[in-house]
Amino acid sequence: MLSPRLEVETHCATRRLFLRGMAGALAAAAVAPGRLLAGPKEERLLSFVHTHTHEHLTVPYFADGAYLPEGLSTLNSFLKDFRTGDEHPIDPALYDILNDLRLATASKSPFQVISAYRSPHTNAMLRENGRGVAKGSLHLQGRAIDVRLADVGSASLRDAAVELQRGGVGYYRGPDFVHVDTGRVRRW
Ligand SMILES: [Zn+2]
Repeated sequence: MLSPRLEVETHCATRRLFLRGMAGALAAAAVAPGRLLAGPKEERLLSFVHTHTHEHLTVPYFADGAYLPEGLSTLNSFLKDFRTGDEHPIDPALYDILNDLRLATASKSPFQVISAYRSPHTNAMLRENGRGVAKGSLHLQGRAIDVRLADVGSASLRDAAVELQRGGVGYYRGPDFVHVDTGRVRRW
């Protein structure tokens, strides 16, 4: 068992490791604490069903004050670009946002994943098809995900995400999903 101080350092080191791989200054500036719901010691787990591959996954990714490398790696693989098979590390802070959304909404349903990591190839293809996809989308950096919940309306999910103040939140009424990311706090 690690000392509390070491645990916090381990926790931060995982996040630092991820941030180091990204556009440094921009990424560091984007990290806002916002509202945290899960306790520092509480186990964090996520359940997903992928709307394109129909795969299910339930996995703990944080326990005893530290991220679980195996859990993160399983999640990263599940959230790969399903069109090309390309994998990319996902910002652990994105998983924490989803875990806190699960707590905030008291949802018992898995997150339905519409889109998570997008390779440059997929992003360019979606842009050409005029799908309202941004050129510098945070999906390209593993810092954004589009989700919905079967037992919580997407407008309520959006409200819960806005309340967290932990990054960007987009609400897409027609296709019925919410985009959350670990960028600047903003909404659309
Ligand atoms: Zn999105």
